[in-house]
Amino acid sequence: MAVTETLPDCIFCRIAGGGTGTPLVAESEHAVAFRDLHPQAPTHVLVVPRRHLAALREVEAGDAVLVADALGLAVEVARREGILDGGYRVLTNDGADAGQTVPHLHFHVLGGRPLHVPLG
Ligand code: AMP
Repeated sequence: MAVTETLPDCIFCRIAGGGTGTPLVAESEHAVAFRDLHPQAPTHVLVVPRRHLAALREVEAGDAVLVADALGLAVEVARREGILDGGYRVLTNDGADAGQTVPHLHFHVLGGRPLHVPLG
């Protein structure tokens, strides 16, 4: 488990800590959910663990509860957004080639339109 809990210069740590005033659409013990600034679908919400982990590669066995909690929150977001029945996508980008731009683990929750297109 990483020693660092939050980083003062990390935008997602600041959002999760309430320091930016970003409205949350949902939250859980270990994660918060808020709308993406540049939505790629009618619903585009980011689920972000409260604790700072740079990306999926930093998840360790001791983080199982945190990850399960965050993914459960993603399902709850889909339910609240009304996209559970129609279907939705949860994804995380890890590293430059994947297009990760914010180095704090996050899960995109996307839905509200057909998403079965080739991955770009
Ligand atoms: P990724 O490219 O997977 O690292 O995703 C980062 C996402 O964070 C992008 O979709 C950005 O639009 C989004 N983003 C960056 N800064 C903010 C912010 N302050 N509030 C909400 N979304 C943000």
